[in-house]
Amino acid sequence: MRIKRICYPVTALGPGKRVGIWTVGCRRQCPGCMSPELRDPDSGREMTPEQILRAVQNCEPVEGITISGGEPFDQPQALLETVRLLSAEVTNDIIIYTGYTMEALQAEIPTVLQEILGRIAVLVDGEYVEKLNDGKGLRGSSNQRIHVFRDPEKYAYMEHCERTLQIFEYKETFSLMIGIL
Ligand code: SF4
Repeated sequence: MRIKRICYPVTALGPGKRVGIWTVGCRRQCPGCMSPELRDPDSGREMTPEQILRAVQNCEPVEGITISGGEPFDQPQALLETVRLLSAEVTNDIIIYTGYTMEALQAEIPTVLQEILGRIAVLVDGEYVEKLNDGKGLRGSSNQRIHVFRDPEKYAYMEHCERTLQIFEYKETFSLMIGIL
């Protein structure tokens, strides 16, 4: 899967100390996109599911994994293989953000989608619409839906919580903002 970055501990995109995985490549041009640098599908680097697993296992403790982009579902087979490995070896507390609706994914890649949904906890779906950004909840705009597939009490807060932003500093030369604006 082509990846831009893997960060830990991410606390702004789901419960607990999470590993955040950002894929590259997105065909949309949503006005107000928070991550335009992730749209280029040739940016980042290619990582096998095993390499991603090793990177995740180097973080401790891992209380969950959040996969965002870019558009993770633009690499459906690689996403499936990565989710298979991470859910089997680390945790099924996996949250995926996608700009596609679940219905669109169901029409395009039904088999891949069904297996992924069976292995993760939450899918946040739908395109980002800037004028519907109400500043609440762990989704970018109010049209996006938070589908919870396991432990509903654990993730219920995602719907209306206050958002937080994290700043990661890298070697005092580069800082990265993580969270939802
Ligand atoms: S789907 Fe996400 S990454 Fe793609 S343009 Fe929209 S906000 Fe940006």
